[in-house]
Amino acid sequence: MELYKNVFQIQSLFGGRNLFQYLFAGANFVLVDTGIATTPEETILPYLDRLKISPERLTLVVVTHPDLDHQGGNDAMKRAAPRACLACGLADRALVEDPRALFDRRYNFLKEDHGVGFDPDPRPEAGKPRKVDLCFAGGESIRVADDWELEVLHVPGHSRGHLALYDRKNKAAFVSDAIHGRGCPKAAGGLAIPVTYYYVDVYLSTLRYFEGLAIDALYSGHWPIMRGEEVRDFIAESRQTVELLDRVIQASLEKNPQGLTLKELIDAVADAVGDWPADSRSLAMFPVKGHLDRLVSLGGAQALTSFSTLALNLIL
Ligand SMILES: [Zn+2]
Repeated sequence: MELYKNVFQIQSLFGGRNLFQYLFAGANFVLVDTGIATTPEETILPYLDRLKISPERLTLVVVTHPDLDHQGGNDAMKRAAPRACLACGLADRALVEDPRALFDRRYNFLKEDHGVGFDPDPRPEAGKPRKVDLCFAGGESIRVADDWELEVLHVPGHSRGHLALYDRKNKAAFVSDAIHGRGCPKAAGGLAIPVTYYYVDVYLSTLRYFEGLAIDALYSGHWPIMRGEEVRDFIAESRQTVELLDRVIQASLEKNPQGLTLKELIDAVADAVGDWPADSRSLAMFPVKGHLDRLVSLGGAQALTSFSTLALNLIL
């Protein structure tokens, strides 16, 4: 779909969710995200072919953050477009370059202590290791054409180095998974998975940052296109979800002075939100652990070790 002149949204489905990449076609050709391992061959390259753009002409591939549905196609894309620079956020580099690191340090870092994580490990969708050529820390600008630049934004929360691109000419923000609402929707409607932000305070500052940016249209990795008031509402809903999780976790710990396991807290939060599907609620391990880390750092909770399962309780 052509969103603006020479700006394209490339769509496919993964796990019942929409999965979007974006293409900016000017003097330079910029692709945003590479999908899962098979997305280049099945979706991106056929799309370029229909536009009569040779992959040889791709200049830059920006991977917004370390997740298998955004970086899984890195190796395949780089093989098809060897002249393109592969780029990601500086703080995400190690995870973007290597599916092994992605699973060890992001998806399964809680498995041993808390019994939550991803199987199989690694999943084939995560693709092959591929070094990145260039890292962004935010504040850079990418020239697409003489009168057209994309501003690189560092918008952490979902990951440490999460990137978004801002197209000032079109007042359009390409935010990938930087903003979560109350969860990620299925293409057919209803929620597919919980919110998966992890760094709570920087996520809140990212939300504030987007509120201060002139955005007419918001384009993401999975959510529907939003415009005007919808953008404001989406950001407000995202903040309310953070506040809800914080309240539920604190109240649950207060009610259970002996402590709770991470899984019990995930269930408490999922019950409070109400419509996260049962088969994906364990993904709320990211925000729940993030909120707990914040509570511990503020001195409001402590980690307990019992029966080899780490539990947590609130210090009153
Ligand atoms: Zn995603």
